[in-house]
Amino acid sequence: MSEIRLLEQVSSFLTRNNGHYINGRAVNGSGSERFPVVNPSSGEVIAEVNEGTAEEVNAAMDAARAAFTGSWAQTSPMERGNCLNRLAELLQQHREELAQLESLCSGKIIQLSRLFELDQSSHFMRYFAGWASKISGETMSLSLPSMQGEKYTAFTRREPVGVVVGIVPWNFSIMIAVWKMAAALACGCTIVLKPSEFTPLTLLRVAELAKEAGIPDGVINVVNGSGRTLGPLLIGHPHCAKVSFTGSVPTGIAVGKEAMADNLKRVTLELGGKNGAAFLADVTPDAMVNGILEAGYMNQGQICAAAERFYLPKSHIDEVLQKLAQRLSQLHIGASLDESTEFGPLANRAHYEKILALFDKARQEGNEIVYGGNALQGPGFFVEPTIIRAKSAQDLLMREETFGPVCTFLAYEEEEELIAMMNDSPYGLAASLWTNDLSKALRMVDRIESGTLWINMHNFLDPALPFGGIKASGIGREFGSAFIEHYTELKSVMVRY
Ligand code: NAD
Repeated sequence: MSEIRLLEQVSSFLTRNNGHYINGRAVNGSGSERFPVVNPSSGEVIAEVNEGTAEEVNAAMDAARAAFTGSWAQTSPMERGNCLNRLAELLQQHREELAQLESLCSGKIIQLSRLFELDQSSHFMRYFAGWASKISGETMSLSLPSMQGEKYTAFTRREPVGVVVGIVPWNFSIMIAVWKMAAALACGCTIVLKPSEFTPLTLLRVAELAKEAGIPDGVINVVNGSGRTLGPLLIGHPHCAKVSFTGSVPTGIAVGKEAMADNLKRVTLELGGKNGAAFLADVTPDAMVNGILEAGYMNQGQICAAAERFYLPKSHIDEVLQKLAQRLSQLHIGASLDESTEFGPLANRAHYEKILALFDKARQEGNEIVYGGNALQGPGFFVEPTIIRAKSAQDLLMREETFGPVCTFLAYEEEEELIAMMNDSPYGLAASLWTNDLSKALRMVDRIESGTLWINMHNFLDPALPFGGIKASGIGREFGSAFIEHYTELKSVMVRY
C-alpha cells in the first residue's frame, strides 16, 4: 500500500465552488442545484458541482459563436497551432495535478492517468497543432469545354463548420475531450464541451490552462450537468453547427436523431461496441494470455476499443483460461491513488451495479464463470476481473457491451468459422487478430468488419491513424487527416474569365 499524497492544488480545487467555464472564466452557475462527485475507490463524495441550466448553455454558446467569428477567426492558422502546442506544454507541467484529479473522479489508476490522460493527450494535442497550418483546398481545371472561348478556373476551400458541441464520456475524460477540442481548434472552430456528470472537474482545469496558453476567451467553454437535460439544449441551440459525441450506442442514436432533426446539423458519433479478438492456433498459450490481458482488462475494461469477445482454438482454450485465471489472481487490486495498484474500481455506482447484474445474467444463462464474477468487499465500486466461458455465440455476454473487466470466451475449430463469428455483431469499432503467420493475417484483413483492426496488438491509438466505428459503432473518424472532413465544410469557388 503506497497511497500518494494529494497535491495542495488538488485538495483546494475540490473545495472550490465549481460549476462551468464560460468565456474565459470559471462560472458558479445560475441554478441552485448541485450534483456530487464521488471517488469510486471509496464511494465518498469528494466535491459538488453546479448543475447547468439553459442560462449557462446560452452563455457558453454565445461566447463560442462570438469567438468563432471574432478572435479565433482573426488568429492565424500558425498561431492556432502555437496555442495548442503551448496548451500541450501546460498539460505536461500540470501532469501530476491533473492526473490526481482524474484518478480521484474516475477511479483510473494513477499510472494510467499520467500516461494516457496527460502524456498521450499532449502528444495528440501536438499532432493536431501541426495540422492547423496545413488545412487547404485544391485548385482544379474544369472538365467541360468552353462555349464561346471563355475560360474557367476553380478552387475549393476548407472552411470551419462553426461552433462544435463536444459531448464526452467518463472513461477518458481529458483525452477524449482533447481529441475534440484540438481537432476543432486546428480547423478554426470553437467548442462547448459537456463532460460526463461522473467526471466534471478535470476539464474545468484544462480550460483554465487553455487561457494561460493564450487561447482567446470563448474558444473553449465547459458546461456541466445532466446529459439528458443539457444535451438537447446544446444540440438544439441555433449556434450549434456540429455535434461531436463519444459515448454509448443508445445515447449516440438519440444524439444523432436530434442533430438530424434540427436542420441536419453535422454529427460524428464515436460509440461503443462488442469488440472481438481472434487468436490463431500458432500463438503460444503464454502469448495468448499476454494478448488477452492487453486487450481486455486495462482500465478495468472501460476502454471503448477493448475486446470483450475472445475466440480461441478449441485445442488451446482450457490451458489458456487456466493460465489467465492464474495471472488475474495475481493482480494487485486497490485504490486508484495507490502507486502499486494494477486494477482499480469501476468508475461509478451505476456502472458497478450494471456489471453485477450482468454477472447474475451470465449465471442464469448457464455460462461457466471460470474466474471472478463477484463484487469485492469494502467501500468503493470494486469487482473481480472476470473470465466467462460462453456456451454459444448467442449468449448475452457474447453480444452486449459490458464496458467492464468481463471477458467472454468461445472455442472455434475452423478459421472460416472464426471469421463468421468475428463478424457476427451489430457493432464494428475495433478488433484484433493474433498470429505469427503475417501472410495469413493480411489475407484476413479485408474480411473482418471493423473500423480498426490490430494485428498482434490491441488498444493502441495513434493520432496519425484514423479511428472510428463501422456498423452501429458510429459515424465519422477522428485523427489522421480524416478528422478535417468532419470539422470543415468544403466550399467550391468557380471563376469565369
Ligand atoms: P453515455 O452515452 O451514457 O454518456 C456519454 C455522454 O453523453 C455524457 O456526457 C452524458 O452526460 C451525455 N448524455 C447522456 N444523455 C444524453 C442525451 N440525451 N443527449 C446528449 N448527451 C447525453 O456513455 P458513458 O457511459 O459516459 O460512456 C461509456 C460508453 O462510451 C461506452 O458505450 C463506450 O463504448 C463508449 N465510448 C466510445 C468511445 C469511442 O471512441 N468510440 C470512447 C469512449 C467511450
